Amino acid sequence: MHLLKKSSCLLVLIQVLQLLGLSRDLAQTSQANSVQRPTSSSTGQTQRSGTGKSSRLNAQIAQILSEIDARRIESTIRKLVSFGTRNTLSEQDNPNRGIGAARDWLFGEFQKVAMQSDGRMTVAKQTFEQPQSARIPQPTILTNIVATLRGTQPESVSRVYVVSGHYDSMCRSAIDAKCDAPGANDDASGTAVVLEMARVMAKYNFDATIIFMAVPGEEQGLLGATYFAEQAKKANMDIEAMFTNDIVGNSLGGNGVRDRSTVRVFSEGVPSNESQAEATTRRSVGGENDSVSRQLARFIKETSESYVPTMKVWMIYRRDRYGRGGDHQPFLERGYAAVRFTEPNEDYRHQHQNVRIENGIQYGDLPEFVDFGYVANVARVNAASLATLALAPARPKNVTMTTGLSNDTELKWEANKEPDLAGYEVVWRDTTSAVWTNSEAVGKVLSFTMKGMSKDNYFFGVRAVDRDGNRSPVTYPRPAPRNQPTNRPSSN
Ligand SMILES: [Zn+2]
Repeated sequence: MHLLKKSSCLLVLIQVLQLLGLSRDLAQTSQANSVQRPTSSSTGQTQRSGTGKSSRLNAQIAQILSEIDARRIESTIRKLVSFGTRNTLSEQDNPNRGIGAARDWLFGEFQKVAMQSDGRMTVAKQTFEQPQSARIPQPTILTNIVATLRGTQPESVSRVYVVSGHYDSMCRSAIDAKCDAPGANDDASGTAVVLEMARVMAKYNFDATIIFMAVPGEEQGLLGATYFAEQAKKANMDIEAMFTNDIVGNSLGGNGVRDRSTVRVFSEGVPSNESQAEATTRRSVGGENDSVSRQLARFIKETSESYVPTMKVWMIYRRDRYGRGGDHQPFLERGYAAVRFTEPNEDYRHQHQNVRIENGIQYGDLPEFVDFGYVANVARVNAASLATLALAPARPKNVTMTTGLSNDTELKWEANKEPDLAGYEVVWRDTTSAVWTNSEAVGKVLSFTMKGMSKDNYFFGVRAVDRDGNRSPVTYPRPAPRNQPTNRPSSN
């Protein structure tokens, strides 16, 4: 009787938590507990936990999220729509209509933002001539608006995080420069997310550097993003992560589903720039689900769901939507970690359409189909992740796993150089688990052995933690070179 009472109380409690949207944490906890460390382990003095999900939230990040304002996002989107069209081939010198007007307005807005940054933010127009191509009938000038918020920690200032949206738009035809192309959702919404984050975050200090960017030419073949990524590669820029926000404004799908609390994050499994040798290694040891971009997606999910519990990050294990692409691709092709943010259910009546009413149905990418409160929440998901990335240490470098035959798993890595580094965590999960389920704080060491846990049976990774509890994304280890011939694994 007593037991029965207890369990019905628990049921009620779970129902209440579900109502409050907290049931995910319970699910996470029970999942985390399902991976058992063997009891014979001799690493007794280290602390064992789940992924440490909501253990420490940073007050500065919570403050940033509270300052993100749906009304300012709405006014940005309406302003961008007011230029009539932002087609990349449209007028460049008309102050009221066309992509030139949008470019100059955005440049001015980012400059206003920079004035709040104590000189840490600089705004540049990155202008280039795009040669003739499939969707560029004649050579055309394109301009990326690039706002760089310099990091304040000397050891981290060259570490860069990029967040972007594309400010060009299109109607049905990508080369129609005259038609109205309001592009409220595609992609004034993403551009507004970037501008709003810049407005709020420019007032705060971050260890690493953040680039807030608005690019044209997405609809013409990812041209603005490609140019930026190519220049970054040539300059050896250390871009540790890139987010593109594209179509993040509509919470009502063409399938009739209203979902205001989910955002999709697309990440590729097998890297776009994987070499033949890396493919051979991957086939031998696994890792098709552990690219840097996949680790970034897991990081975004774990981080942002602790700060913004009303929003669910729906990880999609795919580079982009089926057969489609976005501005993260040129970064992926150059070896940078990159993901795409997009609303959960799209409505194709309001994308790439000429504005018209047909059979009583309104077509066109109009502001009336954008949910500004939802866009603000997507901005918060972005900002929680971006701020954590730029405050946390870099993800550990040169993480390797010893390859000898053993039921223990030995990991080694290179020392991080940040002065506020607190130490490292080894994480692991079952091979079929979507996210890291367990972690172990191992201190300020450069190697660690998981006693009694075979690398055959789990996936392992390492992340860095600073003194404020900000955690880096996880680095997935490469197999260490085999230098002990007596211990070489055989094919048996
Ligand atoms: Zn788009």
